[in-house]
Amino acid sequence: MPTYEFRCSSCGPFDAVFSMRDVPEATPCRCGSPARRGITAPRLGSGASGAMKLLDATKATAEKPAVVSAPTGRTRGGGGGAPSNPRHAGLPRP
Ligand SMILES: [Zn+2]
Repeated sequence: MPTYEFRCSSCGPFDAVFSMRDVPEATPCRCGSPARRGITAPRLGSGASGAMKLLDATKATAEKPAVVSAPTGRTRGGGGGAPSNPRHAGLPRP
């Protein structure tokens, strides 16, 4: 279920979990006074799911791109650039 932020006038903000259908505009704080719901997007998931990991990774690379020090994997064509056909050796060189 999503987590919503509520703000108590004396204790400050705190989080509470409600279903999207049942989230109230205000909920009682642990001190007893009513706390109004803040205007925030509901936080879905806890960061453990694959979707949240992907969102976190996307957010991280937006500010600090991952830089590789060397090319990884095979190159296109798989031959390493030079032709491997032995008949090419007989072709005239420039
Ligand atoms: Zn309070």
